[in-house]
Amino acid sequence: GNSVLGGYADTIFEQMSALARQHQSVNLGQGFPDDPGPEDVRRQAAEYLMTGHNQYPPMLGIPELRQAVAAHNKRFYGLDVDWQSEVMVTSGATEALGDCLFGLIEPGDEVVVLEPLYDSYVPIVRRAGGIPKFVRLQPPAWELPREQLAAAFGPRTKLLLLNTPMNPAAKVFTADELAFIADLCVRHDVFAVCDEVYEHITFDGRPHIPLMTFPGMRERTARIGSSGKTFSVTGWKVGYITAAPAVLKPILKSHQFVTFTTPPNLQWGTAHGLRKDDAYFAGLAGDLQAKRDYLAKGLRAIGFDVMDAQGTYFITADFRPLGFNGTDEDFCRHITVEAGVTAVPLSAFYQGQGAPQHFARFCFCKHDATLDAAIDRLARHF
Ligand code: PMP
Ligand code: GLN
Repeated sequence: GNSVLGGYADTIFEQMSALARQHQSVNLGQGFPDDPGPEDVRRQAAEYLMTGHNQYPPMLGIPELRQAVAAHNKRFYGLDVDWQSEVMVTSGATEALGDCLFGLIEPGDEVVVLEPLYDSYVPIVRRAGGIPKFVRLQPPAWELPREQLAAAFGPRTKLLLLNTPMNPAAKVFTADELAFIADLCVRHDVFAVCDEVYEHITFDGRPHIPLMTFPGMRERTARIGSSGKTFSVTGWKVGYITAAPAVLKPILKSHQFVTFTTPPNLQWGTAHGLRKDDAYFAGLAGDLQAKRDYLAKGLRAIGFDVMDAQGTYFITADFRPLGFNGTDEDFCRHITVEAGVTAVPLSAFYQGQGAPQHFARFCFCKHDATLDAAIDRLARHF
């Protein structure tokens, strides 16, 4: 159809995973871990369900999770958060993003977004009547183009959407870059919606710093986390938003009319997870860093030009050194069908003309045996 959403194809993740199943390939496309997630977290969720917590929980989320989110903000970022008025639970970061956009902008408002970007952002902005203003980061350094970013802000700018650590660039924004971004938001009086689902997945000692912690940002930022990434349970779809009461209020209204609530047992399990000790969070990043290194080494040995990954569980590789002639979509279909390995094309994370066409994104949150199989299959093919 020609409605805003009717024109969109199935997401690249659904497309490539379907193709992967069809060809029984090793799926390093869509991002989901082989690891089942911490056993205690899953057991807590199972027990809460079995002990009868199966009716509508409070609209904002169960108190235990809202308290855990507030405590987590304090523990990792020094943020003082009132769990009763500043935290809301959603059905995944995806719902949280939708709630924020539907709650905070009006038709005709401009929204600044950084490319490459996660695929749900622009359809939501457009459906909310917003006008996306794109600012493109360039590989392989993915540096913040400060002049272009400043130029994207204007009198009609209502909101900035920021993803750090950033999927698929695997970039972790630095304190200096974030200070620059914060200054623009304050000067132009705009909201910031921060997708920080990979907050605990940063490498080589790089800190994750929420934009919310910068001067003037506490009152204008909605910060989003997700159990899917932090506890390796992507199917749970438990997200959480932290925002000042005046910012959260319209977001809550959107939640009220879209999902209203989120399964209580999964909220309970997530609350337990957020209270896990420091070793858990350090271990998550450490394990994934080792996997990053392992897959990067394997891909380099095959001949790929592999980019740096500072965070998230994705690495992106240039396939031109392999002599492949075709677009990134062609390449990802080709290796799925002919080599039995699936990746996703980087161009799927861009809108409009001029997207790079020679990069494939590989997901490495997999067992070593899965990574071995992928490397082995690609090595035999190329
Ligand atoms: N934002 C980004 C950048 C993501 O990579 C993902 C994971 N697919 C999401 C949001 C969605 O998270 P959730 O599964 O909690 O909806
Ligand atoms: N966030 C995951 C990725 O980037 C997948 C999300 C999805 O399948 N919609 O691969």
